[in-house]
Amino acid sequence: MAKTPVLTPRAQDFPRWYQELVNKAELAENGPVRGTMVIRPYGYGIWERMQAGLDARIKETGVQNAYFPLLIPQSYMTKEAEHVEGFSPELAVVTHGGGKELEEPAVVRPTSETIVNEYFAKWVHSYRDLPLLINQWANVVRWEMRPRLFLRTSEFLWQEGHTAHATYEEARDFAARIHRDVYAAFMTDVLAVDVVPGRKTARERFAGALNTLTLEAMMDDGKALQMGTSHELGQNFARAFNTVHTTRDGRREHVWQTSWGSTTRMLGALVMAHGDDDGLRLPPLLAPQQVVVLAVKGDEPVLARVRELAARLRVEGLRVHVDDRTDVPFGRRAVDWELKGVPFRVEIGPRDLDDPSGAGGTATLVRRVPGTKEQRPLAELPALLPGLVQEDQALLLRRTRERRTERTSDVRTIDEAAQAAAAGGWARIPWALLGPEGERQLAARSVTVRCLTAEDGTVPAEDDAPGNLALVARAY
Ligand code: AMP
Repeated sequence: MAKTPVLTPRAQDFPRWYQELVNKAELAENGPVRGTMVIRPYGYGIWERMQAGLDARIKETGVQNAYFPLLIPQSYMTKEAEHVEGFSPELAVVTHGGGKELEEPAVVRPTSETIVNEYFAKWVHSYRDLPLLINQWANVVRWEMRPRLFLRTSEFLWQEGHTAHATYEEARDFAARIHRDVYAAFMTDVLAVDVVPGRKTARERFAGALNTLTLEAMMDDGKALQMGTSHELGQNFARAFNTVHTTRDGRREHVWQTSWGSTTRMLGALVMAHGDDDGLRLPPLLAPQQVVVLAVKGDEPVLARVRELAARLRVEGLRVHVDDRTDVPFGRRAVDWELKGVPFRVEIGPRDLDDPSGAGGTATLVRRVPGTKEQRPLAELPALLPGLVQEDQALLLRRTRERRTERTSDVRTIDEAAQAAAAGGWARIPWALLGPEGERQLAARSVTVRCLTAEDGTVPAEDDAPGNLALVARAY
């Protein structure tokens, strides 16, 4: 009997597949106010693993966590001209509190450069106070017109880093370090998502930044998703807030700054980069539950064997969940774990306990990433699974890499670039052949320059460096 699909197949309707997967895998649901979301425990567990992985990498660079207020005086937002212009359309503003109209309205933070600078200006006196390296884990609000769960919500969770340095070079290098050693490393090594590092064009830059570094990933439908950004802010906010330090030789100078953020959007990226028609496929190194050990039936010998195996796998350092809900049909539970993308399923039933060889019985091992199912001696599993974690992690990354390579073409005209993007691929075109005018023409066809890269794939120091390539795609 053919299985009835639980999800609309991707090939039939990708956006619908995404929405169904997010709901049925119990990741998230829409909140009552348009654009908001309720993150369910399973989705939040994945987010917590992302937070832990990123937080450790962020701290390795010397950054410390702090917390700034959710509400920002409206006047702060207007101090940096480009910043206010960029963010005004997306602001939520609080005008009343305690039943009275506020003397000064407060904006709900869309990002915290302004309020952070207000305090940096008080904390920084001399070069000895630098670098000042701060990160916060928080929620922000940007009133998005076309919200989509995880990908673009009006309220989202993120980390935002804010640093101040004595020199331009030091700030530039720090923004690059976060981009490479924190974001790119985490996304590749833990999320198993292939990312292209590059710089944004002036048109796509963060409001108030000199330079924005980005990581772009190709989703299964060929669209691009901006996974995270790291900005060189120059002295723009320091000037607006008078964040000044005394240099070694006694001069008064504005500090040089960076800011950088990554968000719950990464959950959407996991779904769209790794998901298949049966559901999510979680990278084993990220998964909150790497292995689920399932009791097929509720007899005591089976349950005992299930618990014993779970304990042995935990000794190997694996995150293991026991599914002993034997009052729920086995098939339904199996489908549910497929949907949730747990990397390994070990199924143990009464028949597995018959052990003519006396070696301790067998189990069915299902690997979610390659989709294989095999019978294995139970005793082998603790030694086998840690290796498979690495293997399947690498396999997921390889597939995202192959997808990008296969679906990226080199083109020479704006038309070819737009066609490649419309056909569900990426196009590479020399920036010299495109330029801001070509970029504008592409934008009119809903196609954007995702980033600029050098010919050798490194991040160029300037938009107009010779040989720069523009990576062009439709994007979320
Ligand atoms: P930004 O502060 O604008 O550079 O944003 C930092 C990162 O947040 C971007 O690189 C996106 O990946 C992500 N992001 C931006 N807007 C949203 C949104 N509405 N929902 C979720 N993530 C977002």
